[in-house]
Amino acid sequence: MPDPNGFLRFDRRLPARRPVPVRIRDWKEVYPPAPESLVAEQASRCMDCGIPFCHDGCPLGNRIPDWNDLVRTGNWDFALESLHATNNFPEFTGRLCPAPCEAACVLGIGQTQPVAIKQVEVSIADRFDFTPQPSAARSGRSVGIVGSGPAGLAAAQQLARAGHDVTVYERDDRIGGLLRYGIPDFKLEKHHIDRRLSQLQAEGVVFRTGVNVTSLAQLSHDAVLLATGALIGRDVDTPGRRLDGIHLAMDHLTQSNRHVAFGETPSITAAGKHVVIIGGGDTGADCLGVAHRQGAASVTQLDRYPLPPTTRDEGRDPWPTWPWILRNYPAHEEGGERVFAVAVQEFIGDSRVTGIRLSDVVVENRVAKPVPGTERVIPADLVLLAIGFAGTDPLVPLTQRGTVPCGPDWQTSTPGVFVAGDAHRGASLIVWAIAEGRAAAASIHAYLGGAGSLPAPVSPASRPLAAAPQ
Ligand SMILES: Cc1cc2nc3c(=O)[nH]c(=O)nc-3n(C[C@H](O)[C@H](O)[C@H](O)COP(=O)(O)OP(=O)(O)OC[C@H]3O[C@@H](n4cnc5c(N)ncnc54)[C@H](O)[C@@H]3O)c2cc1C
Ligand code: SF4
Repeated sequence: MPDPNGFLRFDRRLPARRPVPVRIRDWKEVYPPAPESLVAEQASRCMDCGIPFCHDGCPLGNRIPDWNDLVRTGNWDFALESLHATNNFPEFTGRLCPAPCEAACVLGIGQTQPVAIKQVEVSIADRFDFTPQPSAARSGRSVGIVGSGPAGLAAAQQLARAGHDVTVYERDDRIGGLLRYGIPDFKLEKHHIDRRLSQLQAEGVVFRTGVNVTSLAQLSHDAVLLATGALIGRDVDTPGRRLDGIHLAMDHLTQSNRHVAFGETPSITAAGKHVVIIGGGDTGADCLGVAHRQGAASVTQLDRYPLPPTTRDEGRDPWPTWPWILRNYPAHEEGGERVFAVAVQEFIGDSRVTGIRLSDVVVENRVAKPVPGTERVIPADLVLLAIGFAGTDPLVPLTQRGTVPCGPDWQTSTPGVFVAGDAHRGASLIVWAIAEGRAAAASIHAYLGGAGSLPAPVSPASRPLAAAPQ
């Protein structure tokens, strides 16, 4: 039974972010841990709705009202059990998920604010050590997983616990995929990944780093899962693109994460530079936070789309769908300028970029049309392209989008080879990667003749909640 008055007594509150002048001098996470009393108070705002729409927003089907009430009543250990029943890695989603569950929360209708679901989630996950749950019985079947991002790791844990011998192949020198070398430490300190990897290793998962799988013939397993992400960065052919000082965002972020992890000196640095980030999304926001920590002279983030509204447009994106609204990440309060409805016409410079000629644009059918008479030049000595991703490695035939097609059981056109995560869906979210990893693991388990069934929260055709076309 929930607290019927919780949401009347308490407003939505999150712990205060660390002050900007302090946090841009280090790489630590922006949010400090929340006090237990705050988390319990926030959990008590949940109404345990008869139809919990938060479930529909979450691809994992997280049992949100259950663990909200367990936290409210102080049963944190049961809350962790409930959380882990649907989500292998709540410490990642609790920190990083944009929270479609909160967009779908019933309390978000009208003037009230949704339950702080993510905050409750991460607080539960951070409270405990993760006890390994090795399988008592071995199946004698082996699975090779290519790629160690959240999709590969979720599948690895599910399959190892079901008794299969699991080996994860990763071409990087560390396990974690974009969690390790894409997402900056100020969003996710890397000890959280290491903590989870210790559990997976104790459950029998074998990690082989520095292995670039270029052909399936390299692998000898009863089944293979491709969880290779969608890491091929999208580029532009705008005049001047080949000038020095213009880079794909991921190159900048990877070098920065390696600097934080190993002290390596990045060759791409924002220190003392006028930085222009092209692309208004999450990757661009991560570059913004990194640029400030590296000591940029100025940072400008360009977006070809117009300034979104600050509140949900019920006509366009009715509750409980994911709304198109202005998203302000903590990196945005650290400085920099955001410019909307503009596109680059030319990169200017002799051998190095020194400026950008841009103009206002109107986007029609995804094509940006310049507005005559709006051209101007802004200074730029480091340009970062954060305009999306163009697909994955071609280990099997790909779609036109550069992704791996599959049947309803996640199996590709090559028998015994399955796919999950961004490699299948295209660049997406951690929560979808975990959900697809779990679902593909369920299909692999069935393919291998495993006893019983594993949970499959999504199908390859699953999509985020959206309004029906008019
Ligand atoms: C900068 C950035 C920030 C992001 N921030 C967020 C966020 O805050 N919240 C959120 O929900 N999502 C975020 N995302 C998206 C999220 O990180 C991805 O959706 C998610 O990591 C996809 O998981 P995955 O397991 O499918 O692939 P990935 O995490 O991309 O992992 C794929 C792994 O496969 C390896 N690999 C690829 N090919 C081979 C091969 N041939 N042989 C061996 N290994 C191979 C790669 O090296 C990589 O380690 C962000 C993405 C980026 C780029
Ligand atoms: S929709 Fe919101 S209030 Fe209702 S059960 Fe889910 S989290 Fe609780």
